[in-house]
Amino acid sequence: MSDGDCGPESNDAGDDGSEVRIGRSVSRCPRCDSPITAVSIIGPDDQFVSPCGCRLTPGQIERL
Ligand SMILES: [Zn+2]
Repeated sequence: MSDGDCGPESNDAGDDGSEVRIGRSVSRCPRCDSPITAVSIIGPDDQFVSPCGCRLTPGQIERL
């Protein structure tokens, strides 16, 4: 049933800027190829990764 939806289900905090840790092995930023340790979600179309700080599209986030 789950196709690509592996995020946390309870999201109680969150006005602006929820940070999602990547629990798997280290992913790499598709834009600059740096290791990614976290993804910050600002809005539905506005996410960026840490620590490099590149903005990614939702499609790119899903493929991390
Ligand atoms: Zn980057």
